[in-house]
Amino acid sequence: MDKKELINSGKVKSVFATDKDDEVIIEFRDDMTAGDGERKEVMNDKGAYNAVISAKIFKVLDENGIATQFVDLIEPNVMLAKKLEMIPIEVIVRNIATGSLVRKYPLEDGTKLEPPILQMDFKADEYHDPMLNDSIIKSLGIATQEEIDILTEEALKINEILIEFFEDAGIILVDFKVEFGKDVNGNILLGDEISPDSCRLWDSKTLDMLDKELFRKGKDDEVMDAYIEVYNRILTDEEKVI
Ligand code: 5GP
Repeated sequence: MDKKELINSGKVKSVFATDKDDEVIIEFRDDMTAGDGERKEVMNDKGAYNAVISAKIFKVLDENGIATQFVDLIEPNVMLAKKLEMIPIEVIVRNIATGSLVRKYPLEDGTKLEPPILQMDFKADEYHDPMLNDSIIKSLGIATQEEIDILTEEALKINEILIEFFEDAGIILVDFKVEFGKDVNGNILLGDEISPDSCRLWDSKTLDMLDKELFRKGKDDEVMDAYIEVYNRILTDEEKVI
């Protein structure tokens, strides 16, 4: 599949057109950002690790009945995917209270959340991704009630599947963010990525962080080792292409 013109360049990924109207090529770059893109560093092979981890997770989700945009991993850092018109909502699921939740609400860091919290944020760096509710989403015209219900149901299903998947790898899924979009037929599919960039992952035994939170906390020299640890734990030897 040939890469055609650049359609969109995000903070860490670039999307290119292909020969087919309904497919795109997504290149995962080595950029790492924090604070709405205000801090940016380049981490060697980070794009490849995130793409391979994301491809594996999308395959697991597909096998468990979640429709995703993933088609194929063409190179370690390049994915072939269904073309989506993205819905500008970050759907966040939290199993343990931490991060912005404990900064904004009187919840103690590390509290188990049963049932999990589902939150939707507006994907808009210029507004610092403010939290949404159903009325605001509908006023903004970014999703209908029916679509909000689909996003909610899918995100909670993804949580169930991934809690178990990571548990088998000795990892606690603390929280994560997913994004959805509509394909050329109007179907809502899971898009973007699921990787240590978009999840909080803790080692089950030591509770060590294995995700981008290390970068947010300025521990830049530990980040790639954590991503590689996740890669080593969730991929089989045949799937390890880096
Ligand atoms: P928090 O709201 O506590 O900062 O983040 C909750 C979860 O969603 C974390 O797993 C975090 O990685 C993810 N998340 C929230 N906003 C973003 C974002 O803008 N980009 C990425 N990659 N992940 C996000």
